Amino acid sequence: MANKNKQTDPLAKLVALCKRRGIVFQSSEIYGGVGSTYDYGPYGVEIKNNISRLWWDEMTRNHENIVGLDSAVILHPQVWEASGHLKNFSDPMIECKNCKQRIRADEFVKECYKKLMDRFEIISGAFNDNELIKPSDLSEESPERQVLEKILALAEFQQFSGIKTPSEDADELIIEYVLKSYNQCTNCGAKDTLTPPRQFNLMFQTNIGSTGEPGSEVYLRPETCQGIFLDWKIVQESARLKVPFGIAQIGKAFRNEITTGNFIFRTREFTQMEMQYFVKPGETSEALNEWKEKRWNFYLSLAIDPEKLRWLQHPQDKLAHYAKEAWDIEYEFPFGWGEVEGIHDRGDFDLKAHQESSGKDMTYFDDQTRERFHPHIVETSAGLNRMMLTVLWDAYREDEQAGEERIYLALDPKIAPIKAAVFPLVKKGGLPEIAESIYKDLRKRWRVFYDFQGSIGKRYRRMDEIGTPFGITVDFDTLEDNTVTVRFRDSLEQVRIDKDQVGNYIAEKLGDV
Ligand code: ATP
Repeated sequence: MANKNKQTDPLAKLVALCKRRGIVFQSSEIYGGVGSTYDYGPYGVEIKNNISRLWWDEMTRNHENIVGLDSAVILHPQVWEASGHLKNFSDPMIECKNCKQRIRADEFVKECYKKLMDRFEIISGAFNDNELIKPSDLSEESPERQVLEKILALAEFQQFSGIKTPSEDADELIIEYVLKSYNQCTNCGAKDTLTPPRQFNLMFQTNIGSTGEPGSEVYLRPETCQGIFLDWKIVQESARLKVPFGIAQIGKAFRNEITTGNFIFRTREFTQMEMQYFVKPGETSEALNEWKEKRWNFYLSLAIDPEKLRWLQHPQDKLAHYAKEAWDIEYEFPFGWGEVEGIHDRGDFDLKAHQESSGKDMTYFDDQTRERFHPHIVETSAGLNRMMLTVLWDAYREDEQAGEERIYLALDPKIAPIKAAVFPLVKKGGLPEIAESIYKDLRKRWRVFYDFQGSIGKRYRRMDEIGTPFGITVDFDTLEDNTVTVRFRDSLEQVRIDKDQVGNYIAEKLGDV
């Protein structure tokens, strides 16, 4: 990545570029913005649409057994009970500001017990600022002493009974005390980065109807896949699909994240691109490997630097409640490695859970083998906004041209918002007319841009910053020999070609995207 090491805060430069060029910027800015919500401007929306179109085509056009779906954002509230979202996201949560790991407060206290017991033989004492203290060191009335005694009693109970501490015992006082004394992330090890616990439900709640009466609560979906699980049978039957088959969906998801940040990496409103692949039980392993390979290759097809991509497998004891096996494709962002996409074996968890909760049959009948079963699901789950950040950061370059700093986005032409820009060198002498006619011709095939304002250098720079791969300039030589200059964004190489051949030339270079 060009000059990455020279920059102190490289992402800030990308954020500034995105604002300057109308790619992505803070939403509701005139009112001071809303935490971590972004708007995608004229070029941003093109880039985002190009990426999602590439994903959609890869899934649906390249696979005859994968079909599309656009399900609702607001689903029946029972969906979230069956999926486990209501239960799993309604505990007091502590979050690490460094690694973003959320941990249930009672789990954290339990983890601390283990650490405390290892380090300080907690049964006979406790610690404060890394010094061992005993309840008897504290005055009888002090609240710390009461808490400490309670912790010790629980620890003792846990150690001798082997029974896990019931979560109701990890009451607020204990959590507060443990956090104060032991503010260290159990995931990344960072110190003093843990937030106070908050009663936390990841889902945005709203009400059907205007009165907000009890029972009218509904939720904005925190993931798009649930709509696929609910509809899979009607899709399968109406599209006459046979296992294995897939359903793909692109849509908005909403999560009331405790900690957002890193630009568009983690926001409260985002777009997911998910594909659920339904297979026979026992065939998930093969499907998982197949999809791992396909998804990895997709990132390569976006011209992402493979050195900055890696696989991360979730350890068995850290798997989400629905998952049997889970892999993430991670990218090395300037703030560290981060998940861009997950590929999961969900087994039959979802279909069975919805069958149990709704009472409706969620089985598939294989008319060849005469078998009835719950299909198992392998899913690929990517975030469009995160993928766009990956693409933008990977393409961000700085170099120096004639003593001046140049910033450009080396975007794959498939993703570039504008494929070519046409410039008359000056605003007179018949040059604008020729340039305009080339522009009008190209515009029938691609998104192109015509610009006659400012020096030619400035016009090139503006296009470099939004990643336009080709600049076509009409100059006085054009009047003589009918040729124009084509300038390449990355190499800055310039060639002269016949002005009537510009369309064919660009088509060839773009692979006619
Ligand atoms: P993370 O651990 O980073 O919060 P996750 O494991 O919760 O992600 P999944 O539930 O697997 O994510 O969602 C699939 C994909 O959706 C992620 O790989 C990511 O690209 C995207 N995604 C999830 N949460 C957000 C968010 N808050 N903002 C933007 N994209 C997100």
